[in-house]
Amino acid sequence: MVTEETDIAVVGAGGGGAVLALALAQKGINTIVFEQAPGPPQGLRGEILQPNGQHVLDRLGLLGRLPVESTRTVQKFHFCRVGGERLCTVDYSELPPPYNQAVVTLPNVAHHAILNAIEDESSVSLRYRSAFTGLLRENGRVVGLTVKQGEDSVTVKAKVVVGADGAFSKVREALQIPADLHLYPQGYLIAIVDAAVPISEAKYFVGKRTILGMFPAAGNKVYLFYMIKSGSYDRVKEQGIAALQESWVAIDPASEAIFRTLTDWKQTAFMPTGRVRTPTWVADGAVLIGDAAHAMNPHASQGRMQAMVDAVTLADLLPECLATNDYSAVILKRYEDVRRPQVTMLQQLADEQVLFWNTANPIIAFLRDRVFRTLDRNARLRYRVLSTTAGLRKEPPFGLMDRLMAAGLLPDYSIRDRAVRGIP
Ligand SMILES: Cc1cc2nc3c(=O)[nH]c(=O)nc-3n(C[C@H](O)[C@H](O)[C@H](O)COP(=O)(O)OP(=O)(O)OC[C@H]3O[C@@H](n4cnc5c(N)ncnc54)[C@H](O)[C@@H]3O)c2cc1C
Repeated sequence: MVTEETDIAVVGAGGGGAVLALALAQKGINTIVFEQAPGPPQGLRGEILQPNGQHVLDRLGLLGRLPVESTRTVQKFHFCRVGGERLCTVDYSELPPPYNQAVVTLPNVAHHAILNAIEDESSVSLRYRSAFTGLLRENGRVVGLTVKQGEDSVTVKAKVVVGADGAFSKVREALQIPADLHLYPQGYLIAIVDAAVPISEAKYFVGKRTILGMFPAAGNKVYLFYMIKSGSYDRVKEQGIAALQESWVAIDPASEAIFRTLTDWKQTAFMPTGRVRTPTWVADGAVLIGDAAHAMNPHASQGRMQAMVDAVTLADLLPECLATNDYSAVILKRYEDVRRPQVTMLQQLADEQVLFWNTANPIIAFLRDRVFRTLDRNARLRYRVLSTTAGLRKEPPFGLMDRLMAAGLLPDYSIRDRAVRGIP
């Protein structure tokens, strides 16, 4: 049995853990990161960096260093009905510069940049094939952890243990923090295809139990996000690529040429979706970040961004803990107090979007389309939605009056104001 010592032990080198390790390294804090995977992730996954995530990467000195050949900035997102009719367009260029765009990267590009930067830091040790097995406690406080590192069992004494190990967190379990883990009945088939003609604007189709997103990526590539029932990926594959393409063509006939460039299931992957709610994210000597604390439905397009913001918020608090030798839940809770309002709001918003966007109920679908059309006309409400998705708001985008107005149940004065000012 090997015994080691560090200031901070992080379990998981995913979206949150990797950013935390780099942010701590830049403060010269000794950190060990334990990741159960054999190396950096290689699989297909969609990566949209929202403005708040861009801000975090910029702060870490990485945003400007992302390889240009692997990134694509996107300003306009068109929300459309299945069949093609445009309902609303959201334009990121309305946001304050310099983060007034969405950045779409090829799979894992930002994550690899973070992991590479960690490898250059002497105060951080990133260990792959290292799975968390348990916590060390003294007088009820967490004082370290045990890890299975290859064939070896390693004991690590740490001042703070951070659970950044995703929605099914073993650290959370070991801390005996109860979790309400909800698995949504739908997940996403994601695909990356080469468009014959590059697209520059994103499209998002909503319809009866249907969602299809099309996001431009580097070069001629296009990401497709298609909602399917959890557990149905194999069935979709059995039905064949042509059947899948027909479903997509029915949603957006204008993009048939793009859909036809899907030729191999290797261009696809399935991503399940879940939500985690926990009564607390902290304990004496331990803390949860990212999906371990608060996984959310990907409708909000913010799960990874929130993990990154957690990481930098915690990284800003930990120097004070080290300076005062205080790793109690009371001081660590300051991080949770800062972060919880935005996370809770986004979880609720994403769940509302699940209800409205995926609906098979014609009345709810009618209201949904009406809300999209109001947003298209009403710059104030549209900006609220945009800045929320961009990760720039902590409060819900709509109050009660806004909701009634958006649904067409109260007059939309923006239309009258525009008419008075002679704006069509
Ligand atoms: C379809 C889909 C689309 C999404 N789109 C977006 C989007 O557009 N924007 C966005 O911001 N977010 C998006 N997300 C969410 C995002 O992927 C997650 O919220 C984010 O990855 C959470 O980061 P994390 O570090 O908390 O967890 P993870 O990234 O899951 O990382 C956890 C890490 O811990 C490791 N680990 C687990 N158990 C152990 C153990 N016992 N020992 C050691 N290591 C362990 C895992 O191997 C993994 O590397 C999407 C999710 C889905 C499903």
